[in-house]
Amino acid sequence: MPLNRDRAICLRKVEFSETSQILTLFCRRSGSIRVIAKGAHRRTKEGASKFDGGADLLDVGDCVFIDHSSRDLGTLTEWKLIDGHIPLRTNLRAMLLAQYLAEILSLLLGENDPHTPLFDRLRVTLPALTTPRVEEEFLAMQLDVLNDTGYLPSFTSCVNCGGKIDARAAYMPQRPGLICQNCEPAYTDRIAINPRLLGIAGSILKLPRVRAVPQRLPRLTRAQTDPLNAFLANQIQQIIQRRLNTARYIC
Ligand SMILES: [Zn+2]
Repeated sequence: MPLNRDRAICLRKVEFSETSQILTLFCRRSGSIRVIAKGAHRRTKEGASKFDGGADLLDVGDCVFIDHSSRDLGTLTEWKLIDGHIPLRTNLRAMLLAQYLAEILSLLLGENDPHTPLFDRLRVTLPALTTPRVEEEFLAMQLDVLNDTGYLPSFTSCVNCGGKIDARAAYMPQRPGLICQNCEPAYTDRIAINPRLLGIAGSILKLPRVRAVPQRLPRLTRAQTDPLNAFLANQIQQIIQRRLNTARYIC
């Protein structure tokens, strides 16, 4: 069986038996993979471990794995920690937003489908979440995840009639997309969203980029990003047809 070497970010970790872990890793070249790390917590008498004591959520590491193409789970044979994101782990807001990004990536990325620019974006975004630019960095990354995986909603047209989103906009908790002011009255449980905020989201997607990273992000407050985060989380939940564990933390 060929061994694959890649750099990866841990998106999901499930402890399995006393010593093993099942991991969802976002690999730079291979995309999302699911692997079992047998004996992840086991150490030799000298204290050495093939897995650096086991991977943690959001850890960046160099991994070696066997991809059993006919089977569901691959096998992780080595894990060397590169970045444990210590500053992130001491900042609650940053950690919750990072956990949300890990959850949506683990659900939206298809297995073995490479998304190298998105991987590089996440590498830059995770440390940026501990800076004063946290809210705009998080929103921009979330938009890129949706854009890259093909789940970005239209910010300019109504999902119901195709008409232009104009002076008023809303969305419904049970379906993806935005509805225009003409269609709005037909839905009693709609949630209004300011079209100006939708305009901000649209303009972030059009910013010039250097190595996939958008430049000159506007400074945003939570009064601006919370309604957008709630709309985008609803969009994701309607597409994957399940609730996100971390959605309640982001807005
Ligand atoms: Zn409409």
